Amino acid sequence: MKITLYGAAGDVTGSAYYVQTDSGSILVDFGVFQGGKEAELRNRKLPPIDVQRLDSVVLTHAHLDHTGRLPLLVKSGYRNPVYATPATIEVSALILYDSAKVKKLDVERVNRKMSRAGRAHVQPLYSSDDVDAVLKLFTPIPYNEPVAVAPGMSIRALEAGHILGSASIELTVVENAKKKVVVFSGDLGPLGMAILKDPAPLRFADLVFLESTYGDRDHRSLKDTLIEGETVIRQAVNEKGKILVPSFAVGRTQQLLYYLAAAFHKGNFPHFPVYLDSPMAIEATKIYMKHVELYDEEALELSRSGELITDLSHVNISTTPEESKALNDVEGPCMIIAGSGMCNAGRILHHLRHNLWLPETSVIIVGYQAEGTLGRQLVDGAKKVRIFGETITVKAQIHLLGGLSAHAGQSDLLRWFDVMAPSNPKVVLSHGEDRGRKPLSELISLRYGIAAVLPEYGDVIER
Ligand SMILES: [Zn+2]
Repeated sequence: MKITLYGAAGDVTGSAYYVQTDSGSILVDFGVFQGGKEAELRNRKLPPIDVQRLDSVVLTHAHLDHTGRLPLLVKSGYRNPVYATPATIEVSALILYDSAKVKKLDVERVNRKMSRAGRAHVQPLYSSDDVDAVLKLFTPIPYNEPVAVAPGMSIRALEAGHILGSASIELTVVENAKKKVVVFSGDLGPLGMAILKDPAPLRFADLVFLESTYGDRDHRSLKDTLIEGETVIRQAVNEKGKILVPSFAVGRTQQLLYYLAAAFHKGNFPHFPVYLDSPMAIEATKIYMKHVELYDEEALELSRSGELITDLSHVNISTTPEESKALNDVEGPCMIIAGSGMCNAGRILHHLRHNLWLPETSVIIVGYQAEGTLGRQLVDGAKKVRIFGETITVKAQIHLLGGLSAHAGQSDLLRWFDVMAPSNPKVVLSHGEDRGRKPLSELISLRYGIAAVLPEYGDVIER
C-alpha cells in the first residue's frame, strides 16, 4: 500500500491523502490550499491522481481545506461515490456553494479590471454547477460501522469532535491476504468542547496520520476563557456600546450561541439583544439544531428540555442585506455576530466601518487571525485601518479571547494518541506547520520511542 500526501504536509491546508493498493485506490479528503495567491495557483494544478481508476473519496469533515478541491475532481471526470457522514454532507454543501459564490464575485471583480486593461478574462476555479455535480456523488455513511469503499478496502467513521459531522477514519486494507489498519485522525476537537461529543479513541493502527495544528501548545482553559468573555461583555453592556464578534459561520458561531445561552440561563447575566448577521451562519445553525444525535449529554439534555431555545430567545437573525443594514441604527448595548471570522470579507466589515471609531464599541476576536487580515491588524493594536478604501480610526476596545479553538491542543492530541500507542503504529504528523509538528514529534519520541515522519508535499508513505 502507498499513501501519497497531496496537501497538509508541513502546512495546515489542502488535506489530501491518495491511498493506492494492488486492487484499488481512494482519496481521503481533497481540500483546497488557503492563504493568498500562491495557494490559488497550487489549487489550479491537480495532483497526478488516476481519476478514472479512483474507487471513491472519503471525507473526514466539511471544512473547505478538506473538501474544496472536490469540484475540480468532478470537472476532471470523477463520477464515483464521495462518502461522508450525513451532517458532513449537509455542511459541505453549504460551504462549497458559498465558496463557489465567493469565487464568482472575485472573478467578476478581476475581470472588470482585465476588461479595462484589454486583457483576457480569467475563469473561476469552479462554479456552483460543479458543486451540483459533487453533491450528486455524496453517499452518506453511519458512524462506527464498516463500509466497503473500494476492492479490499473498508472504512469506519469515528467521532472527531471538531465540527458537526466530523470523523476520524479507520481504513482497513486487505492486500495479499494481509490485513492492515490505517487511521486518519482528521481534525480533532478539544476535549470538553460544547455541543459535540469528545473525539473517540482508537486502540489499534499499523499507521496513523495525526493532525498537529497545535502540537506545540495547549489553549487557554475553556473555563478561564468563558470567565474572561463574561467580564468583557458585562463591561461592554455597561458602556452601552455595540459588541462586534467576527465569527466563522460553521462551528464557532454555534459554540458562541451555546455559551451565550448558558450565560443567560444563569440569570444574573445582563440581557441584551444578539444579532446573528450571517445567512451562512443561520443555515449552519439550522443544521446543528437538526442533528441532536451528534450532541454530547449536556447539549442533548438542554435541547430535550427546550431550555436551549428559551435561553436563545434574545437572538435575532438578519437574513437579508436590508436587515443587516438596519443594524446600523440599532442602539447599544447589543451583540452582532457576523462573518468573516478574520474580518477579510463579509458583513462584519460594514459593522466595523460604522463602529470602530467609537470608544464604547467592543470587538471580541474568538478565532485565529492569519497574517495580513484585518482581524490580525486589530489584534496587533492598529490605530488606523482601511475598510472599503476608507481610513477608519480605531477607538474601539479590541479583546482577544483565546481558548475557543475547534482544534485539540498538544495535551489532547497526546491523550488521543496515548490509547493507540501500545499498538506501536508508524506515525505521520500531518496538518501542521513545523512550529506545531516538531515539538509534538519530540514528545512522541520521548514518551513512546516512536520516530514520527514529518512529510512534505508529494511524499509517499509505504506500509
Ligand atoms: Zn477543520
